[in-house]
Amino acid sequence: MSCGERLAAELRKHGFRVTPQRAVILETIAHRGGHLTVQEVYAEARQRLPGLNIATIYRTVESLHHAGMVDLFSTTSHATMFELRDPANPHGHLICTICERVIEMELGLIQELGHIVASETEFELDAHHLTLFGVCARCREQ
Ligand SMILES: [Zn+2]
Ligand SMILES: [Zn+2]
Repeated sequence: MSCGERLAAELRKHGFRVTPQRAVILETIAHRGGHLTVQEVYAEARQRLPGLNIATIYRTVESLHHAGMVDLFSTTSHATMFELRDPANPHGHLICTICERVIEMELGLIQELGHIVASETEFELDAHHLTLFGVCARCREQ
């Protein structure tokens, strides 16, 4: 089974319909991996399915999100980014506001921050969705 087929099977298990269009989108997402924007998936999937509509990609990503299969997060240009959830590699995101690079941050760091925030404010951070904005080392050098 290819990675795309595995995603399709999992999505069906969550009660979502997998159309041939969606199968191509899932294949593209699985093949690229990492942090993706809807636009990136659209640009690639469209080469295999010329009639593809970007709204279909948004809806597919939404379904994946509702099925708990992808995490969504935002970048500074307001493009929604997402990635397949990988229980073996939980992490948060640091996003550079200058170059918009996405850097992964160890979950341990976030949990530490979570403990501090909780003891000061009784507010519980959702560690899996934490995204922090700032300036990366490369941009700070310049
Ligand atoms: Zn940067
Ligand atoms: Zn990530």
